[in-house]
Amino acid sequence: PASGRGAPPARERVPGIRHIVAVGSGKGGVGKSTVAANFALAMRKAGLRVGLLDADLYGPSVPRLLGLEGKPAVREDGIFTPHEAHGIKAMSIGAMLEPGQAVVWRGPMATSALRQLLRETDWGELDLLVVDLPPGTGDIHISLLQQVPLSGAVIVSTPQELALIDARKAIDMIKRMQVPVLGIIENMSHFIAPDTGTRYDIFGTGGARQAAADLGVPFLGEIPLVMAIRELSDAGTPVVVSNPEGADAQAFSAIVATI
Ligand code: ADP
Repeated sequence: PASGRGAPPARERVPGIRHIVAVGSGKGGVGKSTVAANFALAMRKAGLRVGLLDADLYGPSVPRLLGLEGKPAVREDGIFTPHEAHGIKAMSIGAMLEPGQAVVWRGPMATSALRQLLRETDWGELDLLVVDLPPGTGDIHISLLQQVPLSGAVIVSTPQELALIDARKAIDMIKRMQVPVLGIIENMSHFIAPDTGTRYDIFGTGGARQAAADLGVPFLGEIPLVMAIRELSDAGTPVVVSNPEGADAQAFSAIVATI
């Protein structure tokens, strides 16, 4: 290769797992973890055997989102038994930390921890493992994208340009690593005031749809800004499982149906 650094390391499948799909974002705080958890649960509802791996090692949200309690069990051979919640399996470094404890690791430590969470966990047979990536484009992304064959990646963005600038970069990275971009989800796309029904485009609207068109990647759908999504996430019972007939859960189901 032109770089003179030899071929990239071979991507090695994780036995028992059919598809791995990463969920990323350019910026933090756009709702990536919330979307990843609801996406995983909507896939479960659609009948797949699903796991959720929290690769956001420095800011793990999956324990809170799924209401995981305690540390995962470790077998005698050192293999983790993942948590189970709402019908899916889940692994997160966050479930192994004391409350308030930070992960203070340089890149190589984080990379090997990710490898362990991915490969030294008894996932059993899964149709789909959803990976909640950290925001941005860093060490963890590169090592995941190099280590395993991904079936695709989904990018979450809010509609405003500030978030979309970084979302475009995340898509650029994924394309360069030759992973299929499944599409963009626009989160917090608008707010309907529950008392008056007035619509407010708090972060603008339609920006992610336009960015998807510009980049030639699919636009997967819009998730509104809804207080219940935040409340139910904080309670460990995401909207897809706790209010499955509601419009918000249906929005996730509709997205899943397009993939
Ligand atoms: P990220 O993973 O991008 O950092 P999170 O998923 O942690 O973002 O979401 C950030 C905050 O926004 C959380 O409190 C979450 O509950 C809330 N949130 C995410 N999406 C929505 C939404 N569509 N409506 C309301 N609150 C949301």
